[in-house]
Amino acid sequence: MLGLYLAVPFCRSKCSYCNFASQVYPVAVYREYCELLAREIELAAAADGLEGAAVDTIYWGGGTPTLLPADGFAGVIAAIQRTFQLAPDCEHTVEAAPGTLNAERLDLLAACGVNRLSLGAQSYHDAELRAVGRLHRAEASDSDITRARATGIRNLNLDLIAGLPHQTAESWRISVERALDTGVPHLSVYMLEVDDDSRLGHELLAGGERYHAHFVPDDDLIADNYEWACDQLTAAGVQQYEISNFARPGFASRHNEGYWLRQPYLGCGLDAHSFIANRRFANPDTLTAYCEPLRAGRLPRTPATALTDAAAREEYYFLGLRRTAGVALREDDPQAAAVPALVASGLLRRTGSNIALTARGRMLSNRVLAEFLEPVVVP
Ligand code: SF4
Repeated sequence: MLGLYLAVPFCRSKCSYCNFASQVYPVAVYREYCELLAREIELAAAADGLEGAAVDTIYWGGGTPTLLPADGFAGVIAAIQRTFQLAPDCEHTVEAAPGTLNAERLDLLAACGVNRLSLGAQSYHDAELRAVGRLHRAEASDSDITRARATGIRNLNLDLIAGLPHQTAESWRISVERALDTGVPHLSVYMLEVDDDSRLGHELLAGGERYHAHFVPDDDLIADNYEWACDQLTAAGVQQYEISNFARPGFASRHNEGYWLRQPYLGCGLDAHSFIANRRFANPDTLTAYCEPLRAGRLPRTPATALTDAAAREEYYFLGLRRTAGVALREDDPQAAAVPALVASGLLRRTGSNIALTARGRMLSNRVLAEFLEPVVVP
C-alpha cells in the first residue's frame, strides 16, 4: 500500500510561528499549481513504477489546501484516480484553516472522497490567535466542525499549540476543554517550535519583542500545559498514540502512522518529501524551482540516494519511538547500548524486547532520540 501526500503552499496570511514552506501568493497562481500538481502525480508514478499502485491514504497538507479553486482541486483528484487504485477504505485527509470551509467547499470535498478534516484551531482565545496572525476567530473552529458533520465528514482533528503568546495556564485549560467539548475523535497538541525558520522563533532567539515574543510563556509553563493536556485527553478517552497525537479508538491517523512505521509514500507539490523503495527524496521549496521543470515536463525532485543500513536503523528508532507503542529493540543494533542508561534515567521503558518513551521521555524526546543516532564513520 502507498500513502500519497499533496502539498499546497498557499496561505491567506503567514502565521508568525510558521516554519513551513508556505506563503501568501497571488490567487492567480493557484490554478496553474493544480495543473502542475496533477502533472507531477502522473510523471512521478511513471518514474517510480507506481502506476496502478494501491493507495490507502491521501493527505493534503500545506499551507491551506482549502484555498484551491474547486476545478483545480477536482482536477488533481481526477489525476490520482487515473493513476492509482484507491483502496475502498482510503483515508483521505485535508488540512483546513478554520473559516475556509463553507457548505459549497465541504460538498466539493465530500464529492471528491475526502473523509477526514484536520482543522488548525491552535487556540480558543482570540487574543492568542490575533497575536500570531491567524485570521480566524475561536468560534470559527466550532462552526466548521458543525458544517463538516452536516456534510457527513465526522473524522475530524483539531490542532492546538502549547506556548502561543499570551497563553496562560487558565487560557490553555479553556482551549483544551473547548476542543474536548466538540467531541472530535482526534486532537494534535504541539509545543511551540522555536527556531530561526519562523519570524516568532527568530525573534525569541534574538531576545526581542516583535510578534509578541515577550508574551510567549516560559519553557516550564509550556511543558506544564502540554503535560496537563496529555492527562486531560487521556482521562477523556482520547488516547495518546504519538508525541503530539491523540485519538479515540479507531481514529488514529493512518497516514501519519505510515510515516512513523516507515511505510512508502509519494509526496507531490512544493517541498513535498517521498520515501519509495528505501530512497528518500524531496521537491524544491520555492514556487519557481518547483514549477519550471514541470512546465517543461520534468520532475522537480532532488536526486534520490538509497538509505544506508545505518541510516535505516536510525530511522527505525527515531521514528518508531515517537509512537506510544514504541518499537522492538534489536539486540544486535548499535542503538541497544544506549538503552540501559535511558531506562535507568526514567526516559525509556523496556518491556521484554519492546522499548517506548515514558511520559518524561516524551517531554525530552529530542534528547532521547539523539541517543539513537549512530556516529558518522569517516572512510
Ligand atoms: S495557516 Fe498553517 S501553513 Fe499557513 S502560515 Fe499559518 S501555520 Fe503556516
